[in-house]
Amino acid sequence: MDSIGGTIPFVQLEKVSRIYRQSNQEFVVLKEVTFDLQRGSFVVILGPSGSGKSTLLHLLGGMDRPSSGLVKVDGADISKWKSDQLSQYRRTKVGFVFQSYNLLASQSALENVTLPLLASSVAKSDQHSKAMELLKRVGLEEKANLKINQLSGGQAQRVAIARALAANPDIILADEPTGNLDSASGQQIMTLLASLVRDEGRLVIVVTHNEEFIPLADRVIRLRDGQIQSDEAKANMVPVEKHTTDAHSGKSRSIRVLSLFNLARKAITTRLARSILTSLGVAIGVTMMVLLIGIGAGIKANVVKGISSLGPLTMIHVTPKVASNSFGPPGSTALGTQVSSPITSKTLSTLSHLSNVRGAYVAATYFATIGSKSNSGQSLVLTGLAPKNLWSIKGILPKLKAGHFPNGSQGVVIPLSLAKSLVPTSSKVSSLLGQKINIRATFQPGSFGPSGITPTPSYTQTMIIRGFSSSGSSGYISYSSAMSWAKIFANDSKTLHYPGVNVISKTLSSVRPLVKKITNMGYNVVSLDTTLKSISTAFSFLEAGLGALGGIALVVAGLMIGVVMSMSVLEKKREIGILRAIGIRRKDVSRLFLSQAFIIGLFGGVVGVIVADGAGSIINAIVQNFSHSKASIFGLPWWLILLGIALGAGSSVLAGLIPARRAASLNPVDALHQE
Ligand code: ADP
Ligand code: MG
Repeated sequence: MDSIGGTIPFVQLEKVSRIYRQSNQEFVVLKEVTFDLQRGSFVVILGPSGSGKSTLLHLLGGMDRPSSGLVKVDGADISKWKSDQLSQYRRTKVGFVFQSYNLLASQSALENVTLPLLASSVAKSDQHSKAMELLKRVGLEEKANLKINQLSGGQAQRVAIARALAANPDIILADEPTGNLDSASGQQIMTLLASLVRDEGRLVIVVTHNEEFIPLADRVIRLRDGQIQSDEAKANMVPVEKHTTDAHSGKSRSIRVLSLFNLARKAITTRLARSILTSLGVAIGVTMMVLLIGIGAGIKANVVKGISSLGPLTMIHVTPKVASNSFGPPGSTALGTQVSSPITSKTLSTLSHLSNVRGAYVAATYFATIGSKSNSGQSLVLTGLAPKNLWSIKGILPKLKAGHFPNGSQGVVIPLSLAKSLVPTSSKVSSLLGQKINIRATFQPGSFGPSGITPTPSYTQTMIIRGFSSSGSSGYISYSSAMSWAKIFANDSKTLHYPGVNVISKTLSSVRPLVKKITNMGYNVVSLDTTLKSISTAFSFLEAGLGALGGIALVVAGLMIGVVMSMSVLEKKREIGILRAIGIRRKDVSRLFLSQAFIIGLFGGVVGVIVADGAGSIINAIVQNFSHSKASIFGLPWWLILLGIALGAGSSVLAGLIPARRAASLNPVDALHQE
């Protein structure tokens, strides 16, 4: 493959033609050009404007493919190579120097020189020193940290040469490198290029208009109308040591993720205002979505909390079935109704022995009045608590404001509001704890005893106040109190009929089978779990509806991002051309765009979630202010935070995908022509 003693030419062009076709017209820009070039020679290409000089350089530099003919470099025909192979060729074998420098104006000299190294196998830690070394080579180490637009034309062109040398290439291609420079700077550049041949043995090909530089050349090729007009090799060729490529330069690799993000970050900060605007677009979409879903989730959580406060979700409430010819709503055991399946102590025992039942107890409630004189008493509802062995079940006990639950048969918990009315304004309610109080309980008609018309008996007992409940009218007595009161009210304790039984399931998953089983036994069954499920389903629809609205908001934001990204591709075409010309792969260019979109989207997502949280808190405050409650209708669970951020970043990446692909697929030559 390699030339031995320089006899086999390093570059060979065989009948290379380049034809442009435009609306049925053909422009033959290069016509069967054939020549050989040796390593270590300084080649000058001359010719009038439009003669095909740049086209020829693009073919040699792997930026364009010939319409016919062969372009062989170091024995390999590069004219057949695919995009990625050509990228690698540009990155490792050739360095391009342009008339208009084609440097990234917003970046420093050092950063521009480092750019090709990002995609090389040069270790990250060595990239900086390597770039500095190259700047030193072109005499600009003192200007390393200046931005390109702070440099003179001659200095910028020297930075471009340093960049071209970054991969230690065999070939340097320069397209009218002195065209924008004064003659002194031009001379300096030409001398520098010549030294790359004389000192380093590279092949340097320079396109120029300036006949002044002919004496520097080993070879002068003149083009006219796409054909070679003359080709003279000069005898003054100085043999030099063959240039050797670095071990690393042939290896290809992707740009490191960190370098990529750094580049993307710079691109974003360069156009900060626009990037922030795009981010805000994402933020608006995310805010709307998070707010809408959060409101749905918040309302639902509120409902779940409300229902859960009624008792544990594993609780199943069993009541007797009312005969079909009875009056009143099902489940009620109003006066005179016929109960088809009464609940007795036998039923209680059967229910508590069902599999997966943790325990079962009678649900007993009494109407009661407090006070010594029956007519001036305050009314309340006294409910029997669960038996003590079930107290460890979460949610089975109601909330207490103060004190503790009654243990023995004497204790009672009364509502705090009622307690307040019992003490003079000057003394504390807590002074009531441990005090005796007369309670007159009224048997709830029909709820105990065999059905039938019964007089409404009442039963007065002295109780001890043990605690205060938060509810306005609910008080509590112990299970043993509730059961002993039941016996007093019943006509016949042997056939005592209970108004209902609470069955506690061992697990949530066994609630449904138990409900089914007990229903089949002929009872009315209500479980919080099933109630909750049906309400939850209703709220899931609400949530989904709100989420869909939020999703639409996000899609709109995504489209906005897409438009902005597309616009930035148009605007950045030249930068993309530069990246592609120095051999950054398509994949890396599109990754660069996607990382920009990702950063913008991530930022927008985070901002969106924060704004939604703020707006949600304001909504909650307003609702609480008007409803005088602690109810919150907006909730921000952790999954919604993640969802918001993920959707912000994700939708941006999606919206950026097409522009990124388009950016990457741009032909480097076409992209560079955006001037
Ligand atoms: P030079 O560099 O010698 O001035 P070029 O190689 O740039 O000339 O261009 C040679 C000819 O090819 C010109 O006439 C130009 O108009 C034509 N040409 C270059 N690029 C294209 C293209 N993309 N489509 C059509 N014609 C082109
Ligand atoms: Mg040109």
